[in-house]
Amino acid sequence: HNPANLMGIEAAEAAMPGKPNVAVWDTGFGMKMPEKAYLYAIPHEYYEKYSIRRYGFHGTSHDFVSKRVGELLGKDRKDLKIIVCHLGNGASVSAVDHGKSVDTSMGLTPLEGLMMGTRSGDMDPAIVGFIAEKENLTAAEVINICNKNSGVLGLSGISSDFRDLVEAAAAGNDHAQTTLEAYAYRVGKYIGAYAAAMNGVDAIVFTAGIGENNAQVRALISQYTGFLGCEIDLEKNKAAVGVEAVISTPESKVTALVVPTNEELAIARETVRLVNA
Ligand code: AMP
Repeated sequence: HNPANLMGIEAAEAAMPGKPNVAVWDTGFGMKMPEKAYLYAIPHEYYEKYSIRRYGFHGTSHDFVSKRVGELLGKDRKDLKIIVCHLGNGASVSAVDHGKSVDTSMGLTPLEGLMMGTRSGDMDPAIVGFIAEKENLTAAEVINICNKNSGVLGLSGISSDFRDLVEAAAAGNDHAQTTLEAYAYRVGKYIGAYAAAMNGVDAIVFTAGIGENNAQVRALISQYTGFLGCEIDLEKNKAAVGVEAVISTPESKVTALVVPTNEELAIARETVRLVNA
């Protein structure tokens, strides 16, 4: 995204000479995660030479949404363990432990982690070499397929857009149904992993296009959260479309919420904070 961002900075400098320009890094929040979470188990020299590590993409959204969860629950975020599920065309899950991002599912690039609109998410890296050999492609070409032709689009063969997928599943398309189930299963697995990473969880929050609007996917994900003591109220879940809402039952040990993200507002706030400092 950086060349396009630089164009914006250059245009603003030309239009408003002498005014401060602020760059808000999407990785700012996630970069503070501990070494044990950001290092890959490959020779350490690659980290030293090339800075190969997990970077924490979507940090602006995970920061904004987890802060908002604290406000909605009437608590300081510093007293909570929160799992944020940012489910948009790009998708990631993060563990926010007492206000700090301690792990997140995207990696060196946004390709790792959840299944996304067109990205594969986690897979055995040996697949890249295998496909390259079988299809006579370069590694870069296979990675491009993993970024642009995989995920929900690749697996369903229908679309990267969840609205098309839900419609096709309702019409009885097996590939669409399997894709929906595989998508939710992966989110469920990350929720379990991050509950373990924080040794507990107080709140699970859904955000971005799918997380905010798609009650069916949230209901499918809730099949995997019962063991944590997170009980979704299916009626509240159905009613929560594009709005802030608690979607768990009053008895639920873990609160589940929908919180629309607002990365633009978060960036504006960071900018004001910096220029006023
Ligand atoms: P984002 O990248 O956050 O804009 O999210 C895009 C994804 O959200 C696409 O898969 C859309 O199908 C999905 N999405 C956006 N709006 C809705 C909606 N009203 N109902 C269901 N899915 C939606």
